[in-house]
Amino acid sequence: LGARINGALQALSKEPVIDDKALDALLREICGALLESDVNVRLVQQLRVNVKKRVNMEELASSTNKRKVIQNSVFDELCSLVDPGIEPWQPRKGKQNIVMFVGLQGSGKTTSCTKLAAYYKHKGMKVGLVCADTFRAGAFDQLKQNASRAHIPYYGSYTEADPVQIATDGVAQFKKDKFDLIIVDTSGRHKQEVELFAEMEQIAAAVKPDNTIFVMDGTIGQAADSQARAFKESVDIGSIIITKMDGHAKGGGAISAVAATGSPIVFIGTGEHMHDLDRFSARPFISKMLGMGDISGLVETVQGLQLDKNEDMMKNIAKGVFTLKDMRDQLQNIMKLGPLSKLMGMMPGMSPEMLKSMDADESTKKLRSYMCVFDSMTEGELNSDGKLFDDEKRLRRVARGSGVRMVEIQALLMQHGQFGQMVKKMGGPNGMLSKMNPAA
Ligand code: GDP
Ligand code: MG
Repeated sequence: LGARINGALQALSKEPVIDDKALDALLREICGALLESDVNVRLVQQLRVNVKKRVNMEELASSTNKRKVIQNSVFDELCSLVDPGIEPWQPRKGKQNIVMFVGLQGSGKTTSCTKLAAYYKHKGMKVGLVCADTFRAGAFDQLKQNASRAHIPYYGSYTEADPVQIATDGVAQFKKDKFDLIIVDTSGRHKQEVELFAEMEQIAAAVKPDNTIFVMDGTIGQAADSQARAFKESVDIGSIIITKMDGHAKGGGAISAVAATGSPIVFIGTGEHMHDLDRFSARPFISKMLGMGDISGLVETVQGLQLDKNEDMMKNIAKGVFTLKDMRDQLQNIMKLGPLSKLMGMMPGMSPEMLKSMDADESTKKLRSYMCVFDSMTEGELNSDGKLFDDEKRLRRVARGSGVRMVEIQALLMQHGQFGQMVKKMGGPNGMLSKMNPAA
């Protein structure tokens, strides 16, 4: 999609005059690309109209960069499609918050429940999971397994067949035990069946959720529109989680879900692992969808950590400089964040093979040994670009100090060098970072 839109914009810049005809041709191409990305036909049509309204050829001064104006308005229109302009619901401290999950079978409810529970547990909340799925054999076992792995208390039953009863009892128990956040997982069916919706309504009536989260598989393409509509009609959807965005999902499903429900996307699922849950943000999401890479997401993530050193690092990165100390600080941040591969996945140009090779536990172990290496370096070495270590004596000293083998330190330095190259490209006045925000 990105290539096609970029191609279209390139072609536009070769046009001798940018007039309505050129704009129409461009919009045709862009809309075709959006349809290919599973964006709903109706929405694509609306986007075309909106862009045409915004880009008024007569009113644009001849000096303005029309290509940029058009690009910006397409980008903004796409962003507004995934942003309903509603502040998403958030659990409040000092209150017993109840959240109910709904969605078709296989959409990723049970997986996402645990991810969300772990997310808020990490934020210091007392979180409990209730399994109100009595439809799928093994549903309780699945939730139990996930919850145990994340050390999250759970409630369910092997004998009770009535999901409404389980939901009621589970919520009552967690309430009594003063839990801050109680998450109720429900059953799905293969189709949007009457029974499913009736059951959902009954559970909702029994537990009175503060927020109902609609979970949708991001890979279902054009079907997203009707599915989201069907759910919207029978439950009061508060927020949306789009799952499987690590696979072949092209982003159109997410856009349709927001359009059909008018509710905000709060998270996206990016894998089967517990930490594979990203806070949703419109601009990085659309950038990524257009193949622009998710540098702004990376920057946000790093900034979100609020660590003392990170301002220096961001300043350095903006200048295109990347010292060993920057790498150490960044790796420290990443260690707090979870698996390395996730963050790396936000980097444009990162190959899938490279990501696959980074197993979560392996990378954590590796990161720890890297920290020992950094600890054995002098301040001067840390503030350098690492070239000093071409001197083998120096390398040997650090190896001895850290207990890490020389070849591994060399591998670390090589990785640092690659990062440095990337940062050089990103930073500086002509770097990618400065181009990242098309509105700027
Ligand atoms: P439920 O029926 O709605 O409860 O769905 P599950 O939570 O059981 O998930 C169905 C399948 O999708 C499982 O194999 C999950 O591991 C997988 N899954 C869920 N979320 C994601 C995701 O974000 N990415 C990927 N790749 N797989 C996911
Ligand atoms: Mg389930």
